[in-house]
Amino acid sequence: MTVPVRRAQAELFCLCQQPYHADTAMVSCDACEEWFHLRCVGLSQAAAKSLRKYTCPVCASLRVRLFNLKPHG
Ligand SMILES: [Zn+2]
Ligand SMILES: [Zn+2]
Repeated sequence: MTVPVRRAQAELFCLCQQPYHADTAMVSCDACEEWFHLRCVGLSQAAAKSLRKYTCPVCASLRVRLFNLKPHG
């Protein structure tokens, strides 16, 4: 068994690049499947619960960019 290239000791999530905290609610992006702290993306827990799909700010801006770059038709 080979040891993989050194990885970060704790997996980091979100825009803030912080590890998971048990007391911080998170939401997963439907596009990139990354996890984000609700407060970092400006969502309340109630809002997050009512969402069926969540798209993070990163993917949202990428989509907008792609859409704008792509010639229509
Ligand atoms: Zn965060
Ligand atoms: Zn995303």
